[in-house]
Amino acid sequence: MAERLQKVMAQAGVASRRASEKLITEGQVTVNGKRVTELGTKVEPNDKIEVNGTPVEGNEKKVYFLLNKPREVVTTASDDKDRATVLDILKDVPQRIYPVGRLDYDTTGVLLLTNDGDLANQLMHPSYKIDKVYVAKVKGIPTNDELKALRLGVTVHTIENKRHRTFHAAPAKAEIIGVDKAKNTAMVQLTIHEGRYHQVKEMMKAVGHPVLKLTRERYGMLDVDNMAPGEYRELSYDEVQNLK
Ligand code: URA
Repeated sequence: MAERLQKVMAQAGVASRRASEKLITEGQVTVNGKRVTELGTKVEPNDKIEVNGTPVEGNEKKVYFLLNKPREVVTTASDDKDRATVLDILKDVPQRIYPVGRLDYDTTGVLLLTNDGDLANQLMHPSYKIDKVYVAKVKGIPTNDELKALRLGVTVHTIENKRHRTFHAAPAKAEIIGVDKAKNTAMVQLTIHEGRYHQVKEMMKAVGHPVLKLTRERYGMLDVDNMAPGEYRELSYDEVQNLK
């Protein structure tokens, strides 16, 4: 929605509306690189406003994207091995978005990206119990006792940066949704709320079934069932409200 320049400046905390008007008429303000001196000028949420060359922050429209993350892209903004990142896929989005949490390089599926720091922090906070549903293809076929251990919460021992680490995974929902007896593999659906590093892989390893392939099927109400790997779309207003 277009708004008057001085109103946007005031809301962003540059100065009062009156003082912002003065900055504009004095020629100290540019919009998308062009000097603006007209007080009636309206700006769009994505317009770049600068006062004497200093960008006005906080006027960026909040945007929310759902990506079906393909394999072989990282979810960090940049990669020391120069691998492709999810931001390369969304390079046409003008806002400075970033992923909410991480998926491994070889994990596919639901990934949220936004520039809304408040929502991102809320979603990533351990106390926020949003369902994350994963489907893991695992080696071997988990027994009922092993599924029970996942449902009660397994203890994970792992080595990170040459250090032993132990954590207790919270109880998860765990179901076998497919078995390939010939290949001795199973498809396990795991629903968790936590988001530790390699959480699902570590949990499955802890019960003796290493993950061969991993996808995140659902995040809260969101899925990518009708989206090809690498496809993304903007969330609707209702979908965003639903996450909050
Ligand atoms: N758990 C993992 O092990 N990897 C992911 O990418 C996500 C959850």
